[in-house]
Amino acid sequence: MASRQDPPLKFDAPTMADAEAALARHFGYASFRPGQAEVIRAVLAGKDALAVMPTGAGKSVCYQVPAALMRGLTIVVSPLISLMGDQVRGLREAGIRGSYLNSSLTPRQQAVVMARALDGWYDLMYVAPERLADPAFRAFAAQARVPLLAVDEAHCVSQWGQDFRPAYTGIADFVASLPVRPPVVALTATATERVRRDVVSLIGLKDPQVTVTGFDRPNLSFASFELKPRERTRWVCAYAAAHPDESGIVYATTRKRVDELAQALRDAGVAAVSYHAGYEADAREEAQRRFVMDDARVMVATNAFGMGIDKSNVRFVVNCGLPLSLEEYYQEAGRAGRDGEPAECYLLWSRGDIRTCRFLIDRDDLPESTPAAERQRLERSRRTLLNHMIDYAQSATCLRRRILAYFGQDVSALSDNCGSCSVCTGATPERYLAPARASHAFGHAAFDDELDAAGDARPRSRRRAAAREEALDYVATEGDEELFQRLRALRKRLAGEKGVPPYVIFSDATLRAMVRRKPRDREALLQVPGVGTTKLERYGDAFLEELARG
Ligand code: ADP
Ligand code: ZN
Repeated sequence: MASRQDPPLKFDAPTMADAEAALARHFGYASFRPGQAEVIRAVLAGKDALAVMPTGAGKSVCYQVPAALMRGLTIVVSPLISLMGDQVRGLREAGIRGSYLNSSLTPRQQAVVMARALDGWYDLMYVAPERLADPAFRAFAAQARVPLLAVDEAHCVSQWGQDFRPAYTGIADFVASLPVRPPVVALTATATERVRRDVVSLIGLKDPQVTVTGFDRPNLSFASFELKPRERTRWVCAYAAAHPDESGIVYATTRKRVDELAQALRDAGVAAVSYHAGYEADAREEAQRRFVMDDARVMVATNAFGMGIDKSNVRFVVNCGLPLSLEEYYQEAGRAGRDGEPAECYLLWSRGDIRTCRFLIDRDDLPESTPAAERQRLERSRRTLLNHMIDYAQSATCLRRRILAYFGQDVSALSDNCGSCSVCTGATPERYLAPARASHAFGHAAFDDELDAAGDARPRSRRRAAAREEALDYVATEGDEELFQRLRALRKRLAGEKGVPPYVIFSDATLRAMVRRKPRDREALLQVPGVGTTKLERYGDAFLEELARG
């Protein structure tokens, strides 16, 4: 954090054209995704905004692009101290001057960061919500020119969400303490009506632009398999071993199962690390670091792991056991494929899990002072949430459709067969239980099946066609696969030299696009999605050299 970066181009009243130019320059993307433009337009016009988008939809861009354009210091409230360093490194790679202020810095370092911020060194600063109540920080913020306050993981303000964080309720007071009220943008992936209402009222959004994007993630395939616990372990080990170049997350419901699964994976020769609340903070951070840096390719964890992890090249998420709600499940599964490349989500469950979950939600963990009526209501709501999860696990109809309907999306226009869930493709778990008897392929092959069936005009045909094209590219010819692996190795080496996670340099999607297009010069490389001018300057030549080797 020591060196001073050149500021991005700043404007007094940035327009959407400036925003598009900044998206291309810093992130290498040609256009905004659905929802992003709407949120950014509101923010640039000085309006508050609430962005509800699924994980991986690109929420960060909604405040990072304005932060790069607006004069002054955008403050971003985030609950995740351990990730701020990574986030800032990623931003700096993109040429946006990020910083963070949290308890991992010594008081002296904190003073330096604040002094530099007042000197105009930074476009954006991440802080934990607790910081907002600190008088020294308030004095600092009153002196800084703050053009925008962004509240990430905004559902943390609601007691109805799963991640309630009391300090979030102090945000409104902090905003009121600023000499000039900046626009406030709140971002979350939690879609339920009640949480949304809480976010608006408790953060104090004024007449916000509310943007809720579709919840479909066309590049994710879904499967639900009923398996006994022992089969489950076998399945996970065989699956991970059969995907030796892919990074994935395996969720288990108890700490003991996490440890057992991680050991079984390592015994099977898979570089796996594990993470749960029973480990010391140091051990958790180290496991997370190794996973994010691609030093370990499989993370086995309880649901304590994952919020805010923006590793974009996670190719599979396997849930062993049932989450307590479909919200929780979709959030965990949604950590796969954030780069838009095909990725697979598996739910492996057993009858025993249903009993365990019922026991968990019936256990009386509410404070004694809870009024009887509220207690009953809460218990009922937990049971309803769990029942939806169980229905999903046992579903005889399209899993994707079920998820989307649950999140309130109109599914009437969807085809009955999504072509990429285990119900629609008829996929079974056999393949990774007894490889010799494999009868059904699941995953990329499902897209091939779809291609055969492409004759019928499907309502979502355009979106699906794009996914198919990517899927076909994904099943690259051998030469291309070899080139992709070389580009990955180069990325890993450059990341190691700079001490940043590999995905921060280029995403898997960007490497795949390079393999497809085989750019020969800087101009052609700049056309590849994910390559902006900042990264072209830094890494362009190294990648062109590798590409030139054929
Ligand atoms: P979220 O915070 O909503 O989970 P992120 O902000 O981490 O999502 O973005 C997910 C991925 O999508 C990142 O790899 C990001 O670079 C990419 N992305 C964001 N905006 C765009 C865009 N307009 N075009 C293409 N890719 C994008
Ligand atoms: Zn389906």
